[in-house]
Amino acid sequence: MINVMDHLKSYNEALWINPNFKPFSEATSVIDKLPVHFPTLSEIEDADARLRRFAPFFEAAFEETKASNGIIESPLVSIENYQKSVITFIGGRILGDWFLKADSHLPIAGSIKARGGVYEVIKFAEKVALEAGLITLSDSYDKFLSEPVKAHLSKYSIAVGSTGNLGLSIGTISRALGFKVNVHMSHDAKPWKIQMLRDRGANVILYDSDYSKAVEEGRKMADLDPYCHFIDDENSLDLFTGYAVAVLRLKEQFAKIGRLIDEDHPLFAYLPCGVGGAPGGIAYALKLIYGDAVHVFFAEPTHAPCMMLGMSTGKYDAISVNDIGLDNKTIADGLAVGRPSKLVGRVMSPLLSGIYTVSDEKLYRMLYLMAESQKLSLEPSALAGAIGPIKLFYDTPGFNYLKDHNLLDKMENCTHLSWATGGNLVPEEIMKADIAKGQNSDLMTL
Ligand SMILES: *Cc1c(COP(=O)(O)O)cnc(C)c1O
Repeated sequence: MINVMDHLKSYNEALWINPNFKPFSEATSVIDKLPVHFPTLSEIEDADARLRRFAPFFEAAFEETKASNGIIESPLVSIENYQKSVITFIGGRILGDWFLKADSHLPIAGSIKARGGVYEVIKFAEKVALEAGLITLSDSYDKFLSEPVKAHLSKYSIAVGSTGNLGLSIGTISRALGFKVNVHMSHDAKPWKIQMLRDRGANVILYDSDYSKAVEEGRKMADLDPYCHFIDDENSLDLFTGYAVAVLRLKEQFAKIGRLIDEDHPLFAYLPCGVGGAPGGIAYALKLIYGDAVHVFFAEPTHAPCMMLGMSTGKYDAISVNDIGLDNKTIADGLAVGRPSKLVGRVMSPLLSGIYTVSDEKLYRMLYLMAESQKLSLEPSALAGAIGPIKLFYDTPGFNYLKDHNLLDKMENCTHLSWATGGNLVPEEIMKADIAKGQNSDLMTL
């Protein structure tokens, strides 16, 4: 039995299996007792419909969404070559077929934040425009590019706290709709992300401290302004619901390639986790749609394992990685969060199979392997999910999980899904340097 706390405190990698995990039918009754109403399947479908209403606007405002008729979606990619390339580093095979969900290549924001972030902003825009009588539900929503609508929306502002990608997503979509936007950024935000945001017309406010502080300051400033909508990454159900829509589309993508998912053909999903909103919304919808046929794991950096700390201690957002002496400094800027979302921790308690941590060194190594074997350029955060199957097969708690859930003889038929959360907007010279770092690494095992 590993002691999770000892591993966390010493920056060692760990795999925590969630003792509160329940069969899906029992999990739902636990969730129903929470003081928050989480979206039903039909509410997630409503969110999907809202995004589709905006398709004519997306198509007109963002060139790169033309090919998909204004639907913001990412490809599902087989990563067979990567699956082979890791054998050298683990001295064995991974059973099952391994896929990547390439949110790294989502239009508009080049990261998973193009889901939740875009969704919350368009929902607010729709509400404001409907209330002003400037649109109706049956209009073509390219009307959002017309002068009267834009002029009205420009009276409002959007505010958000971010380590980088959420700000990029919210900043970009808000400006396209005519909103003013204030992005409160933590010290770990990458300079190129700050520059890109400013170029796109957002007001960026920088803090010397970490992400939680940036959120807090953003919330305070927004509270003073009745025309400001604050996007609360730690508590927002709209963000959560926007992320959940991904799974409706994923289900279609699996069906299209004839990939069977059921209890005899299980799905294992590995989701990089920062504050928890994105992986939380997706994990929740995965369970809603696939029930006990899906097993969900979160992935965090060893320097910022906030969700593992919060869930394993049962303290959720009442504990931060700084409280156990960790520095919250990681190359995975999208995951550099010290305190997890309370909203997500509690709903994940009966649903999540487990959480593992991964070192920055391995993130670089996998970044290189992914670029080399699959020609896919991902940012470091996005690689956290790309070690999941290895943890499951080659780490004792993972293997025990498979054994305890009678999964060992089903692994030949299983689907592994690593959620690649960002990468497409990384400037070429930075991507090259990151790939070189992974290539030159001395690391011989994964
Ligand atoms: C934000 C982000 C995540 C995690 O999402 P959270 O909602 O913060 O948990 C993962 N990867 C990347 C690249 C991100 O930007």
